[in-house]
Amino acid sequence: MSERIFIGVAWPYANSPLHLGQIAGAYLPPDIFARYHRTKGNEVLMVSGSDQHGTPITIRAEQEGKTPSEIASQYHQQFLDSWQKLGISFDLFTTTGTANHAEVSQHIFLTLLDKGYIYKATMSQPFCPQCQRFLPDRYIEGTCPYCGFIGARGDQCDNCGKPLNAAELIDPHCCICGTPPQFKDSEHFFLRLSAFRDRLLAWVRQQTHWRQNVLNFTMSYLEGGLKDRAITRDINWGIPIPLPGFEDKRIYVWFEAVIGYFSASKEWAKSTGDAERWRAFWQDEKVKSYYFIGKDNIPFHTIIWPAMLMGYGDLNLPYDVPANEYLTIEGKKLSSSRNWAVWLPDYLSRYDPDPLRYLLSINMPETGDTDFSWHEFVRRNNDELVATYGNLVHRVLTFVYRSFDGCVPTPGELDSLSQDIIKGAKHTLNMIDKLISGCHFKQAEMQAMKLAQETNRYLDTKSPWKTIKQDRQASATALYVAIVVLSALRTALYPFLPFSSQKLHEYLGFEGSVEDDGWQLHLPQPGQRLLPPEPLFSKLDEGLVDEETARLGHAY
Ligand SMILES: [Zn+2]
Ligand SMILES: [Zn+2]
Repeated sequence: MSERIFIGVAWPYANSPLHLGQIAGAYLPPDIFARYHRTKGNEVLMVSGSDQHGTPITIRAEQEGKTPSEIASQYHQQFLDSWQKLGISFDLFTTTGTANHAEVSQHIFLTLLDKGYIYKATMSQPFCPQCQRFLPDRYIEGTCPYCGFIGARGDQCDNCGKPLNAAELIDPHCCICGTPPQFKDSEHFFLRLSAFRDRLLAWVRQQTHWRQNVLNFTMSYLEGGLKDRAITRDINWGIPIPLPGFEDKRIYVWFEAVIGYFSASKEWAKSTGDAERWRAFWQDEKVKSYYFIGKDNIPFHTIIWPAMLMGYGDLNLPYDVPANEYLTIEGKKLSSSRNWAVWLPDYLSRYDPDPLRYLLSINMPETGDTDFSWHEFVRRNNDELVATYGNLVHRVLTFVYRSFDGCVPTPGELDSLSQDIIKGAKHTLNMIDKLISGCHFKQAEMQAMKLAQETNRYLDTKSPWKTIKQDRQASATALYVAIVVLSALRTALYPFLPFSSQKLHEYLGFEGSVEDDGWQLHLPQPGQRLLPPEPLFSKLDEGLVDEETARLGHAY
């Protein structure tokens, strides 16, 4: 029975290149998940897009003397290029700048207004007397009222992760000139979050399959009470408020960005020629919806978006929100403003995608922060991808290609050791199946590598390269068993290493794609014609560690 799976992926701000922290946190996990489900024969809809609104864009535009929309489209193009090179397989990666997104966002706004979940009220807004302007949330800093962190922004505290209102900050000041803001009255719209607290609490208590960090954060947030939040601002970059008298204000970015999951699904449906097709993913209660995000985004996906969905009605709530922790770089906290980051386009200009995908998944920050270092990148590539997995593939395929006329050899009777290896391959596929479906990516990849190690030991024991001289049948049998394992590994590793897995699939003489072949141990047929093999991975020079480390801290 095939399932339908909806995958929502965090919307990156289109104001800077993507960095490895974002990839490990929010972009690689959903791609692994999507590729796995497609291979299982499930119907996947994976959407995201670039977030073109919000002050991160206007700040960057002011710095570069460009318009916000020029900045947004420049980075959007770059994102599309990065996804293609890294193999992040979105069904649609759109932007919040489309007419469709504005229309859907305004429709949800008006529906919630109609139902009384959005109301109008006067709010005091920070206004800088020096700069003579209202200050958007990110233009204001102060001390967090919850944890005492000094650099909290007007929308969120980066230390404790709590969303904030600018007025809650202690000792607030303007980021541009440092002046303490005055607060001026301005009429705005508020989302009545307080009305959803009990429903949200009851719903979250049922989500026992959520990651502990996500569940704990959400519960403690809800138990602390829910405040209504303003969803409009005194800015001119963003989606217009669909009511007269509010021409100088816009819908605030966090309210409309989460709607992107829904508007993108509608855009995707239109692109398939069946404009109603989104319903199969949003209104069928059997469909599970997953949202892949970094931990700073948890409250928007476990509280605010679910509240909006409950208010709007008739759409599926999230099934799981497997938020990741943070990736540090060479032992230090990643910081894009200080350039302490490895930028994805920069990486992709020099290296292959699969070694990065390998390292970031085997070292994924699923339950705690993990570190990226160039030394570890080289070590994992050389010792694990090249020496363990790549070497297994290459020594088997080149030897068979040379000694058995380029065809899969015919095995003799399998002894118990050989049977165990084949059983192990089946078992590994089953285990990885369970692990990935439960969003345990790191462990899943480790299981595949364990199978490669065991098979290397099996070949060392059987030494088919030696036995071929005195017992060709024994050699053929051991090599056949190894080829069965390679067939399992091409499937098991496909979600993680799609490029090299597809190559292996072709070297083994299979047609089409790994995905088409399904999540199963497809036994290669004796006599099946192989393609001339090439090494799947190349060894990296230790010298790159110093070169790459020297780039850190400098602008890309
Ligand atoms: Zn805080
Ligand atoms: Zn100022």
